[in-house]
Amino acid sequence: MANIVTDELLENNKQYASGQQVHKSSYPGNQPINPARHVAVVACMDARLDVEDLLGLQTGDAHIIRNAGGVVTDDAIRCLIISHHLLNTNEIILIHHTRCGMLAFTDDLLKAGLEGDPAAEKLLGQATGREFTSCHKSASMPAQFHAFRGPIEALDAPRCEAQTERLEWDVRRSISRVMNHPWIPTEGPDASTVRGFIYDVDTGKLEEVNYPGPMGTFG
Ligand SMILES: [Zn+2]
Repeated sequence: MANIVTDELLENNKQYASGQQVHKSSYPGNQPINPARHVAVVACMDARLDVEDLLGLQTGDAHIIRNAGGVVTDDAIRCLIISHHLLNTNEIILIHHTRCGMLAFTDDLLKAGLEGDPAAEKLLGQATGREFTSCHKSASMPAQFHAFRGPIEALDAPRCEAQTERLEWDVRRSISRVMNHPWIPTEGPDASTVRGFIYDVDTGKLEEVNYPGPMGTFG
């Protein structure tokens, strides 16, 4: 699979991590609608990630799709399909990151806390260091929060082996969702490439996650 641009962006990331500025922030003037580098990125909304900066993307280069966790949700798939078929992108980059908030809760715990379960409220308060205030109401949506699987850890806990493993498995899950979607071709003449990464918020560096990778605890 040709993914020359992704490799170039990884080189940009090395410059970013070493303190150099690649992204230019001034208005570039009129540009075409199709992303110039034919790239679509799905990344976590975490405030410490500036996707344009860390990949050295310029305005007009890429579609950037962000949500809590950088999860490949139905809506991310919707965006990727439009991005590829209508706006001519053919390299997909998925970015999770260390110390992600999605490691610090489970879907059931957050739902229980929101609905008013005192034990869940207490646990969520301990995990986040912020008093959790329940809404004491039930709700049918969102159906999922997509918290990462595995035993929860404190919010913003430093990187450890177990954290890396949980992140890697969610990156693999995300790659799998994209690669197995019938409307996102990853083979043949109209194929997109899909690569997944963990961004280390303590170093500024991207690390690639191999796919499919070895069997693991949280797969
Ligand atoms: Zn995150």
